[in-house]
Order: sequence, then structure tokens, then C-alpha cells
Amino acid sequence: MHPLIDRRSMLLSAAALGAAAFTTSRSAEAAAPITGPTGSPYTRYKVGEFEITAFNDGTRVTGNPEKIFGVNQKPEDVGTAAEANFLPKDRMVNSFTPVLVNTGKELVLFDSGNGANGRPATGQLAAQMKAAGVAAEDIDVVVITHCHPDHIGGLMDNGAPLAPKARYVIGEAEYAFWSSPDRANGPTANAAKIVQANVVPNKDKMTFVKNEGEVVSGIRAIEAFGHTPGHMAWHVESQGKRILIGADFCNHYVLSMQHPKWHVSFDADKDGAVATRLKLLDMLSADRIPFTSYHMPFPAVGFVEKGAGDGYRFVPASYQLML
Ligand SMILES: [Zn+2]
Repeated sequence: MHPLIDRRSMLLSAAALGAAAFTTSRSAEAAAPITGPTGSPYTRYKVGEFEITAFNDGTRVTGNPEKIFGVNQKPEDVGTAAEANFLPKDRMVNSFTPVLVNTGKELVLFDSGNGANGRPATGQLAAQMKAAGVAAEDIDVVVITHCHPDHIGGLMDNGAPLAPKARYVIGEAEYAFWSSPDRANGPTANAAKIVQANVVPNKDKMTFVKNEGEVVSGIRAIEAFGHTPGHMAWHVESQGKRILIGADFCNHYVLSMQHPKWHVSFDADKDGAVATRLKLLDMLSADRIPFTSYHMPFPAVGFVEKGAGDGYRFVPASYQLML
């Protein structure tokens, strides 16, 4: 019998027997290359009449979570907490999630990502805005939650502002701390250099706010000191619906939420950051409102449920913010 017919009759008889389908691929290679894991460029959801776009500035794999989260704990306890939540103990993924609020009247961008000269595999904000159909010159306000490089690195690209027509809003204490000449040396030197290049040149277009300070109608500041001296979270409300833009008050969806008292290496004032974390997590769980947090897994939006002991549990948003 001809070999092709032989193969065909074999396939038919296999099908007749209910065997798994055969492929007729002639090559050992798939038609598309293996490209590695990827996230979405952006996600859009709504809060009342406001529309919020979360941009994926990039994701970064790092090692040794215990050197960032729970630095006042035994390293093995941090590993145990990670593994109990189906996470590896030796590696983690860090997201960077600037968000844009469209109030219907203004476009308000919160933070600018790492920028072109920032961490590898990040600095995607400008490209993601393009993908989402957002023109940078249409942005009315840029809010700076705090002055760490992963939040202000994208404000300028070689001296050209990301949002050329925008005014800026920043916490008064945050600007005062980082723009001071005292920051030029020591552990703050690197961030201070980026502040001088990206933040200070926009000073004349800047509004400095305190607790409850308004950005635009429906968006106001909430003091969330600790991560940095003037770190601010932002309360957003439209038609009775609310969301908190939390910036860096709680950066790991398991380790910071289940163990809010654990110290975090990046928090400048460890005890102050714990107090802020407890205060905001308590408010979020009591009021049952959503929040977005810059470094949580993209799109970094969800709810807070009271958990065991001092802890809380992150409940990722599914379709609540699509309705
Ligand atoms: Zn950050």
C-alpha cells in the first residue's frame, strides 16, 4: 500500500477509536517563536463617570523578596508566607503602574513610570499611552505621588516633558524634602539628581498640596507619609463611587497586606509607613472601596478584606469596575 494512504487510514482509524487528534505539522518547530511571558499594555475601567486607564510601564523580576519585605523578620518567615500563597520564596515580579483619570473634563496622570533611562524592561508609559489612544499633549494635570525615580523618571525625556501642556500637583512636604540641597549627597543622591532634572524645572507650573488638597473636582490628596516624607495617596470620587490611588503605601499584594507591620526596605520611615498602611487598609476594608497600588501585579487594582490577626487580604478586581 502507498505510504500516504497508509498514514491516512491510520489517522482515520485512530479518530474512530476516539483517540486524541493528530496534528499534520511537518516540522518539529511551532510556527510562532517562544517569546516569554507578557502583560497587557493597558487596562481601562470606570469609577462613576470617571474613566481610569492603568498603564503597564513594565515588569521586573527580582530576587530575594525578604531583602525588601519583612526586613525586620526572620528571612525564612518571609519565604514561608510567600510559599503559603503560591509564590516562590526566592523571586518576585514588581510592576510599575501609572494611572490616568479622565474626569470627562480633565485628564489627570498619576506618576510617569521609570522613563527611558530607568530600570531595564520598564519605561513603557509613553508607548502604552499611544497604544491606548492617549495623546500626551492632551494631559491637563500630572500628579506626582512621591519623588522616587520609578515615579518621576518618565516626566522628562532629554529635557522634553512627557505632558507638555500639563500643570503639576505634588505634596508640599514631598517637594520641600527632595528639592532641598541637603539631598544631594548620601543615600538620597540618586533620586535627588532625577528630582533636579525632572521635577524642579516644572516648579512654576506646580501646585503644592497638603492633606485634603484638591487636584481637580473629585480628586483630593490624603497624607500617606512614611514611604517618603511627603508621600501622598489620592482619593477619587465620582457619582458616589470611590477609588483610592495608593501609590506606594502597600507594595506587595501578599507580604504587605497580610503582614502590614512588616518593615519594607524602601520605606524611609519604617514605623510611619506601617501606621499609614494600617490606617489606609483599615479604611479600604471598612468602606469596601477599590484601590490601585503602583507595584502590585498589573493592572494593580482590587479590594481589601480583613484577614487573620493584623492582616488583610487582597481581592483582585474582576468585573466590578467594568459595570
Ligand atoms: Zn515605587
